[in-house]
Parts: sequence; structure tokens; C-alpha cells
Amino acid sequence: MSIYRELGLQPFINASEPYTRNGGSVMSRQVVEAMAEAAECFVDMSVLIRKVAERAAQLSGNDGAFVTSGAGAGVVLSAAACLCESNKEEEDLLDVLPDTGKAQKNEILIFKGKYLDIIQYWKLIRISGARLVLVEPTKKALLEAVNDKTAGMFLFPAPMYEEGIPTCEEIIPVLKEKGVLVVVDAAAQLPPSSNLYYYTKLLGADLAVFSGGKHIKGPQSTGLIVGNRTMTEFCQKLACPNPRLGRAFKVGKEELVGFIKALELFVKENPDDRYQRQKEKLERIQKKLAEIPDIRMELWAKGRLETEQPLLLVDLPGEKTGEECCRFTRAYQNPVDVGYFKKENGRPGSIFINAYLLKDGEEELVADAVRAYLEQ
Ligand SMILES: *Cc1c(COP(=O)(O)O)cnc(C)c1O
Repeated sequence: MSIYRELGLQPFINASEPYTRNGGSVMSRQVVEAMAEAAECFVDMSVLIRKVAERAAQLSGNDGAFVTSGAGAGVVLSAAACLCESNKEEEDLLDVLPDTGKAQKNEILIFKGKYLDIIQYWKLIRISGARLVLVEPTKKALLEAVNDKTAGMFLFPAPMYEEGIPTCEEIIPVLKEKGVLVVVDAAAQLPPSSNLYYYTKLLGADLAVFSGGKHIKGPQSTGLIVGNRTMTEFCQKLACPNPRLGRAFKVGKEELVGFIKALELFVKENPDDRYQRQKEKLERIQKKLAEIPDIRMELWAKGRLETEQPLLLVDLPGEKTGEECCRFTRAYQNPVDVGYFKKENGRPGSIFINAYLLKDGEEELVADAVRAYLEQ
């Protein structure tokens, strides 16, 4: 990794999550090679964009899809698609957004809740030009909030975000009955790969958004919008090469090719094998740490957001905090990023270790770094 050292950075092992601040995910050799090949010649971008969208729809089990520059861009484009779809008679809206002009339906609803502080991606909805309306998290308040200005609603699934809030399963049918467009920001809700069609095909959301640079292990600057074909086509019309709102979220030919290769590998990978490989790595770490007296550990069957990935929880003794442990392991000789919970999310005295992004053999280095912290 001398390229990073040349720039004065020390690479580290990611034993936490595909956080953007960690550089997201890592791409497989096959993805990197597809990108390198794509970089060496010219193609008609309009055709490539359409072909990649078609293939993404097919691979994800949806009627329509669009590949953009991240789930963040997906949030903006999906909100813009809600504005276009719900103000169909305003034909020039596509060209003027984020100016909502004469569009009557210019409000997008989201539930109030603690998640607004934990994940702040909802703020991006405003970039589309929509006005955000925060609704008390009950079905009754929602039904009262829907009016002739409502262009759609955004939902953020995961038990951690939906604490005290009606779930997608409860609320999507209500919104559909009212004729309100629904977008689900499921950026990190993978695996299982069936979530790629769960929110749209099974629950009935109009669009769902996923990050390409997290669990799909595509380029960090990619994101996937799936769902209703009219809506994904609005996303496409709004985006590059057209000089509209989405022109600012350009995706290069290399990223498009890299993303679709990564998506193909992701949906084709045997989920049990993937899970088992991660579990074995965590068990090896657990075994090494178990030699430390009085250590308490739990192997969770599901990830932090209840996704299909095992997670090793380590309770730190005494007054130690997860944040302090991470600071230590990041500065250790072979630096490691371990996961920790902020105070407001409970368990500040624990760390979590996720093997989703660990390469073979790295589990030894993770265990060494945590052990060094506990034995200092
Ligand atoms: C990570 C995340 C995003 C942003 O994803 P990018 O692909 O990095 O743009 C958006 N929404 C949620 C809920 C996320 O977890």
C-alpha cells in the first residue's frame, strides 16, 4: 500500500463497518480488473448507463434500476423523482430542479425520531428542492400530515433507526393506500441480497436506495436506486449526461463497470459460505482474546443493523470505553479500526468486531491489537 504511504497516510485494517470515513469497502480483484479494463477504451456513455441500469434491475430483481454516485446521491435523485412523478403536469420540472417552480406537490415527509441524529442523510432530501416536513412517528399523525402538497415520504429501515417509529412493514401499506410515493433509504441494509427487492417488490415501496461502496463492495463512489420503472427513469433523465440536477453526481465508465461486476458477485455469492467465513474469523479472534482473564464476549448472530453478518461483542473491563480502545488500536503497530458504540447508542464500554471486510489472516492482527490494548 505504498501509494497511501507516499501521501503520508498509514493504511489500517477495517474490523468495524464499511464506514465512509474508513474509505467504505474494499473491492475484489475481479472488480478492480473490470475497472482497469473499462479505463482503457471509449464507449457511448448513454448506452453504457442504460445497459448497466438494465443489468442492475435484473440482478436485483426489480423492474427498474439506476446507478448513481452513492446512496447519498440516490437520496437526492429519488426525492427529485418523487417531485417529477407527483407533479407530472409540470413538464419542465426536470429541467428546473432544485427550483420547484410552480409544482404544487413539493413536500417530502419523514418521521421524527432519534435516528435523525444518528444518520443525517435525510438532510440531503432538501438538495432536490423538496421541502422537508417532520411528522410525529405515529400512523395517525402521518395520515393527518398527508395533504395536496405531499410529494412522497422517505423511510429509514433498521431496528436501531426505527426505535419508537412505525416500521416499513407497518407504514408502507398505509402510504400506498393513500397514494403517497415511498422511498426507502436502505443504504447499509445488506446482506441478505433479497433486501435488494424486499422493500420494493414485497413491501411496495416505489424506490429503495443502496450504497454500492458498502456491503456490495463496489466502488465507493457508487449507489443503486431500484424500484418502479417510471421513477428510475426519472432518475436517469435527471442525471448525467443530461445537464440537470443529477449531472453533479456523475459516475464514470470505470465505476459503472466496477459496480455491476461487484453487484453480480454479491448476488451470486453463497450467503451461507459468506456467513460461515466471517463467523470462523470471529471465532478465531474470540479464542485468542479468551486467554485474557475476566474478559466477557458475546457472538451475535446478526449485525449492528440486524443484517446477516455475525458480530463479536467484547465488553471492556473497568472504566475502559470502546472509543478509547479504537483510538489505541488505530495507533497500534498494525493499525486496526474496531467498532464501538457512541454513548447515546448504549454499550459505550464495549467494542464490536465485524469480519465482513477482513481479509484472510487479518483476524490475527485484530486480536493482537485488542489484546495489546487490554494488557497495557
Ligand atoms: C451510508 C449511508 C448513506 C450514504 O451512502 P453513500 O453510498 O456513502 O453515499 C445513505 N443513507 C444511509 C442510511 C447510509 O447508511
